[in-house]
Amino acid sequence: MKKWAANISILAWALLVSACASTAPDTVLVNAKVFTSNPAQPWAQALAIRGDRVVAVGDTSTIAALAGSATRRIDTGGRTIVPGFNDAHTHIAITPSADRLNLPFDPTLAQIAGVLREQIKTSPKGRLILGDFGQVAWGDASFTRAWLDAIAPDHQVWLTAFTGHGALLNSAALAAIDYDDTMREPEGGRILRDDRGRLNGRLEEYGLALAQRRMGMKTDPDEVVRIYRQYAAEARALGLTTTQLLGEALPAADASKRLVEADLPMRWRYFRYPIRLGGNDTMDSRPLLPPQPTPLIDMRGMKWILDGTPIERLGAMREPYTDAPGYRGRLNFSPETIDLFVGWAYGSEDPLAVHAFGDAAIEAYVAAVERAGRPEVWRAKRPRIEHGDLLAPDLIPRVKAMGMLVVQNPTHFTFPEIFLERYGKERLAWMQPMKSLLDNGIPLAIGSDGPMNPFENILAAITHPANPNEALTREQAVSAYTTGAAFAEFQEKDKGQLVVGMLADLAVLSADVFTVPEAQMVATRSVLTMLGGKIVHDAGAIH
Ligand SMILES: [Zn+2]
Repeated sequence: MKKWAANISILAWALLVSACASTAPDTVLVNAKVFTSNPAQPWAQALAIRGDRVVAVGDTSTIAALAGSATRRIDTGGRTIVPGFNDAHTHIAITPSADRLNLPFDPTLAQIAGVLREQIKTSPKGRLILGDFGQVAWGDASFTRAWLDAIAPDHQVWLTAFTGHGALLNSAALAAIDYDDTMREPEGGRILRDDRGRLNGRLEEYGLALAQRRMGMKTDPDEVVRIYRQYAAEARALGLTTTQLLGEALPAADASKRLVEADLPMRWRYFRYPIRLGGNDTMDSRPLLPPQPTPLIDMRGMKWILDGTPIERLGAMREPYTDAPGYRGRLNFSPETIDLFVGWAYGSEDPLAVHAFGDAAIEAYVAAVERAGRPEVWRAKRPRIEHGDLLAPDLIPRVKAMGMLVVQNPTHFTFPEIFLERYGKERLAWMQPMKSLLDNGIPLAIGSDGPMNPFENILAAITHPANPNEALTREQAVSAYTTGAAFAEFQEKDKGQLVVGMLADLAVLSADVFTVPEAQMVATRSVLTMLGGKIVHDAGAIH
């Protein structure tokens, strides 16, 4: 009897504890400057979290009073908290292990040759060697496979334009991915040849994308997992909790397996990237099953690239380049092909993201969207313009009418001298809009598409070196990186703001990005990153 009573009291105690557990928060973060990114209540001092969600937002005394005996209490010492950053457009290079050339930005051919000659003294024969170049090398006609072979005949040398839209490979690198003189070009790409029809080593657009895919598929799966793990560790230390991958080397099915295997505390969105070989069969065109192999991995969406960038003058322009009279760049696809993939998106639930840089490319995309169907249907599909640099004022109302959104990449604003040469003053005055988009009610997200450091991108967004009239406020920049990025992937009900009911994805920052001097912005880090209420990065600065 006594024993039975004791059991009852244990039961009652257990019920009481579980009742408390269901009301008291697991964690409270107090004494903070919280930017919620919720326009109705942008600032707070404290947050309470239960399970994976935010359950209260308010001042420190109110939130502290919610804590129970089992609640973890984190006093941030007045630090700034933001929603976890969501990089709406980035890439993770997948290559076999390689040596990397330490080249200056935009190197000359002599500089590349010098660094490469040094590198091959220590790299074993057959080793893959990677490097980046810019407009100087690209503009030099002697920058070919033969030139590279003469310097490094016994290594696989793979040099990529920093824009990602062109490359030069030597003979060994071409052979490693089965590129030979008989091969056909994939649709939307060029595999350049000399006047005798032999590959000259230069690849453009989908000619490069196919090469990267073959290289990615040759990469050992364990190495792929290692690359994802390394990326995610760096990202969490920068306060990133979501990464959207927009056009990757690995086919979606392979990437999905490797991301599941890597099992990382990070939310992933992977847009598959179809490559049409010979204009017919299409690699990666079908939506992947399952679309969400784990709750953190979402494989829905497809990405297409309509044109290049102005660095190589591959952006498709309505008016000629200022520094190449009569030349307007080009579109990668015919209007028929654009109609085809835009039509797929209209007829399915699969989100559409299209790289469109020049005004002719943006107009071709918008026109295909207009042809494909009704605005009210499109508005629910949120077709994405990736970059949208030359989104001219006359296109803004059309973009808005179709419910399209823009994912912009602020570190691309840091080449004002090149833009002035390519476009001239008049186009520079309206290019790379951000403020005008927000003023016109067009949703805006920020993705890095370059250095993953969000603080580097925020700095470029608030200064906008190419077109200061289009700079954002700091609050707008952080919101585009969080709320805007969540909207771009249909996740705005679950994340992107620190409000009651949303996922507790957040970063406690080392500096207050809303007031820190510009010169110190880039050095900001996350001292504590949480994903769904769990600590996934802790720099040890808070106790
Ligand atoms: Zn990109």
